[in-house]
Amino acid sequence: MARTRRALIAGNWKMNGLRADALALASGVAVGARRAGWTDRDLLVCPPATALMAVAEALRGSSVLVGGEDCHAMASGAHTGDISAEMLRDLGASHVIVGHSERRNDHGENDATVCAKARAAWRAGLVPIVCIGETLAEREEGRTFSVLERQLKGSVPSGAEASRLIVAYEPVWAIGTGKTPTTAEVAVAHAHLRKVLTGLVADAAAVRLLYGGSVKAGNAAELLAAGDVDGALVGGASLDADEFLAIAKAVQSG
Ligand code: PEP
Repeated sequence: MARTRRALIAGNWKMNGLRADALALASGVAVGARRAGWTDRDLLVCPPATALMAVAEALRGSSVLVGGEDCHAMASGAHTGDISAEMLRDLGASHVIVGHSERRNDHGENDATVCAKARAAWRAGLVPIVCIGETLAEREEGRTFSVLERQLKGSVPSGAEASRLIVAYEPVWAIGTGKTPTTAEVAVAHAHLRKVLTGLVADAAAVRLLYGGSVKAGNAAELLAAGDVDGALVGGASLDADEFLAIAKAVQSG
């Protein structure tokens, strides 16, 4: 069956790479994407803020999009060390990840913080990739659905529409661990998210839902084929251009 939503493969480079590394990686991704000539999927790389400008300039004119890994909710002000959505946009970003579990854990971000950041992304003309996901304890206690519902309702601002919202389901226990849910578990979680989105977004059926958590070339085809999965948010495997491109290749043609 033809895909109704355009696939997106997004790389979250996290706190990795100096400028030269980032430029080499970006160039590898751009060259591979050009050779592949995909017209039915989007590729996005989210480098650390220190490399964003260099990467955005290097990728100008290529099909590969650039995003930030996080943003502050305010446009400017006394927030030492933080970066606003407007600043990301100014450097060439089109997207920004908000609410990644590492931000939620390391920086005490809650759903309200994430919601404010998603709003900030809109204010600056960026598309937020809103991350949600249950911990292992929550899954083992049978609370996966209620946690996802609470996070989604709390993190997606009112007024959301599919053209300016992407949601990434990232089970916390699958991030960077090599463990993944089964495709059936992913499909069930995404179906639940789609149902919850229906009450939040007018065109919920068009919102892109990514899966994230230990996606690599070897498991991408299976995970990307799960029901309601419109792409992947990739951490570790996005640091290798060939591996990232192999994941993008695993998307079934639309
Ligand atoms: C992530 O950080 O969003 C992620 C999914 O990481 P990894 O692919 O390394 O599990």
